[in-house]
Amino acid sequence: MSKSAKNTTLPLTNNALTVLERRYLKRDEKGRALETPANMFERVANAIAEAEKKFDKKADTKKVAAEFYDMITNLEFLPNSPTLMNAGRELGQLSACFVLPVADSMESIFEAIKNTALIHKSGGGTGFSFSRIRPANDVVLSTKGVSSGPLSFMKVFDAATETIKQGGTRRGANMGILRVDHPDIMDFIMCKRDQTVLTNFNISVGLTEEFMEAVKTDGEYDIINPRTGEVCDKMSAAKVFDHIVDLAWNNGEPGIIFLDRLNRDNPTPHIGEIESTNPCGEQPLLPYESCNLGSINLNRMVKDGQVDWDKLRKTVQKSVRFLDNVIEVNNYPIPEITEMSLANRKIGLGIMGWADMLIRVGISYCDQEAAELAAKLMKFINDEAHQASRDLAKERGAFPNFEGSIFEQRQEPKIRNATCTTIAPTGTISIIANSSSGIEPLFAVSYVRQVMDNDILVEVNPLFEEVAKERGFYSPELMKLIAEKGTIQDFDQIPEDVRRVFVTAHDITPEEHIRMQSAFQKYTDNAVSKTVNFCNSANRDDVAQVYQMAYESGCKGVTIYRDGSRDAQVLSVKKEE
Ligand code: ADP
Repeated sequence: MSKSAKNTTLPLTNNALTVLERRYLKRDEKGRALETPANMFERVANAIAEAEKKFDKKADTKKVAAEFYDMITNLEFLPNSPTLMNAGRELGQLSACFVLPVADSMESIFEAIKNTALIHKSGGGTGFSFSRIRPANDVVLSTKGVSSGPLSFMKVFDAATETIKQGGTRRGANMGILRVDHPDIMDFIMCKRDQTVLTNFNISVGLTEEFMEAVKTDGEYDIINPRTGEVCDKMSAAKVFDHIVDLAWNNGEPGIIFLDRLNRDNPTPHIGEIESTNPCGEQPLLPYESCNLGSINLNRMVKDGQVDWDKLRKTVQKSVRFLDNVIEVNNYPIPEITEMSLANRKIGLGIMGWADMLIRVGISYCDQEAAELAAKLMKFINDEAHQASRDLAKERGAFPNFEGSIFEQRQEPKIRNATCTTIAPTGTISIIANSSSGIEPLFAVSYVRQVMDNDILVEVNPLFEEVAKERGFYSPELMKLIAEKGTIQDFDQIPEDVRRVFVTAHDITPEEHIRMQSAFQKYTDNAVSKTVNFCNSANRDDVAQVYQMAYESGCKGVTIYRDGSRDAQVLSVKKEE
């Protein structure tokens, strides 16, 4: 590394420093930081560049490390949190996302709980499908008793997660999926109505196309006992759909995922079926797969009010190399995961700062033009990422399960990674990068953000402050008023063109949210993390309509949230005391 990391000043905000100091930096037993943020980025860049040696003994790892270091410290790209926390350290677990299998036996269920514990300890999140577990009150042959069903076992996963708390880094996060044709589906849909239970789970119903078609025709669909594989009942699809809508309207859970669609895009159907995603829904995985995410900060990809395509291309190339290296140096928690991760080599390159980019190029999130730019931008990133992965395949070989994969079936050239792109929430790394998160609109121009358990940060959008000062309407009083209101749409003293561009989540209709999600999904290998915001007065039909629209427009799942419908919100507009 050319310059000494210790003496470098990095473009980090106070919020970024707070987050880094609390959870990311190496510490001694007394909790004192043993490294500066610059040391931390150097540690990460060095550890990931080390992978180059596996392919070329004479590789200039110093040069590669310097490139990674520059890209990260310029806040152009950041890997997911576990990579920042653990690279070059003893734990060495670098992935954010895992899916574990849960079969219908005590051995399998408690094996999954043990593996969950190991993953959570290292900062990763886990997803499971509980669909194979026999329903409650079914027979248990060995004991002649009755089974307790998927929901009671989910509580055990939840309790284990609560106990682990990830060794001081972050709390565990789980995704629980149940197929819509499982006999316990009605109870599952309701299981988070009480907000004090299953707090370490996000839940989603796995919908099939057969089910969605039955909703349209008001028909019935088959309920299947997973133990026997036999149809044991029939239910009205519309009734179940309304139940899902009702609960989601009530407090945002459950979400939905479209299983057939996830499997249509499964790059390795010969290896297994996709039955779950990671906790925030953006990464469908096979059982025992892991995925490393990383996100390009679009805030840094604008020059003179235009997308800087050339810089974006170079950043994609370097990021793909970085993420492929992560797979090599990763210390996987169990051998089954090592094997699957090295055989499929999934990576998930995504973006953050989309709302910032739109502001910088002067397009409103609500406009059709924004969805068009979204598709163009993501197609560019996806194409470039695939090209970079094909180039790596020439150097390092295709992913080992390439034979039999959809790429081989389509007679496409060899590729290094079974998937390349994913759009993550970037909940924490966007704070480090000082950008808007993922592809979400600004939540508010000024707001209170609750991060990592119960810590709170107060923030005014830096772009807005800049524009307000430049255009001469900045005043502390006005900023305070805006913070209380959350939206600037009713402030006549703010120029119209500024109001048009600084739209916030609640100025955007649910249809516009879905249109954006769908535009990005079209060119994303994996899935897209997105919350569709509704105002408090939205009704159940509004939610149902958005679900249908997501289905029709090719989304892989939907998460909705109606303002004020939960006791503790992650993001909230500051209310007057
Ligand atoms: P970050 O910004 O910290 O890199 P994201 O908000 O983008 O993370 O989330 C990406 C994925 O990381 C999630 O879908 C989930 O799999 C995992 N993840 C996020 N937060 C946690 C957590 N507290 N514990 C475990 N895993 C998490």
